[in-house]
Amino acid sequence: MDNIDDEAMAESQPAPAPVPWYSLNPKHLRLGRITQIVILVAGVVALSQMVSVKPLWQWGWRVPLYCWQQLQPITGASGRKYPGGGWTHGRRILVYGAPGVKGRAVREAAGGLRDLIDELGLDMHVEETTPPADALRDLATVVGKGNAGFDFDRFRDLRLDSRGEQYAEMVVVHQSFTDPTWAWGLSEYTPGLSVLQENMAGNELGKHEGAHLLGYFYHDDRPWEILGYHENWYPTGRDTLMMLMATTNHDLSDRARDALLNFWRGKEDREHERYFRAK
Ligand SMILES: [Zn+2]
Repeated sequence: MDNIDDEAMAESQPAPAPVPWYSLNPKHLRLGRITQIVILVAGVVALSQMVSVKPLWQWGWRVPLYCWQQLQPITGASGRKYPGGGWTHGRRILVYGAPGVKGRAVREAAGGLRDLIDELGLDMHVEETTPPADALRDLATVVGKGNAGFDFDRFRDLRLDSRGEQYAEMVVVHQSFTDPTWAWGLSEYTPGLSVLQENMAGNELGKHEGAHLLGYFYHDDRPWEILGYHENWYPTGRDTLMMLMATTNHDLSDRARDALLNFWRGKEDREHERYFRAK
């Protein structure tokens, strides 16, 4: 009975005026509450990429506003899923070179990574080693005959299935990358993988890629400006370790150090685990 009454009432109401599809009047857009919230959040996120203030930047790395993507699960070559950053529980980073890579390049890269870990005070062990047997197999697959360069994504997917998340790796290779071809190194925190080109691998590159490996996936030109830090207004005028292009100064900027420290403090809060060395 209820249904019949409702229909009768609906018929007695005048039909609403048609709304042109291009209307921007919020009343006409008829956005649901959830859509409105999504638009608001997207706007705040977009703005946070352009400008920030020091307390928001620090808090944003802790909660994690700036780094939530890194905590998402990651898929291996087989389609199996792994928790993002699961390798951090093992507190180990293996550093090795592909067959034929000079020991010096590996040593210097490992040295840069160690410097960074010491500076941050993290409880993380850097182990220079020979390539694990499964890594030799994965390397052979990626840089086999006929391959134009080093396919980082393919290597990452293979490594996830071969080693799981027992440890992270920094690998020095001969080849340049297939994508992007100009990169000297590529690193991702989520699978715990960093790959460096041998002819560029040194202390600085090890430290720069190490910062990406440890979670700072930004460069120091993004956000454009963070109020509260003493730095050049124009990103191109910044001379710090974490600029995209090579710099003369190899020190972490205050913004990069704060981001990394807060990222790891946030991990400690969420996981109830200790990642910093006991003082
Ligand atoms: Zn970089």
